[in-house]
Amino acid sequence: MNQARCKKCGQVFAFAGLPPPVCPACQKARNEQLYILRMLVREFKGLSAADLNRITGVPVNVILQTIQGGEMDYIPVEESPELEAKVQEAMAKARG
Ligand SMILES: [Zn+2]
Repeated sequence: MNQARCKKCGQVFAFAGLPPPVCPACQKARNEQLYILRMLVREFKGLSAADLNRITGVPVNVILQTIQGGEMDYIPVEESPELEAKVQEAMAKARG
């Protein structure tokens, strides 16, 4: 195991293999954001990247990369009531 500093929150964390740029907590938060993004894109096909940015807080360039890069197909998240609540909250915002 090696140690790296998270580029996002600055926390030092241990990793094996190639160093990931962010710690597991930040990675998890990012995956959850992308998961919410995916649910929104599936449910509301007409939303623009600007709308998605407003609802999820994910930067527009990341939204475009995620959609265009096919990263939407598989996002590793642990489904939980908390995550489901965040999805529902985002859906409510998207409905306006
Ligand atoms: Zn972090």
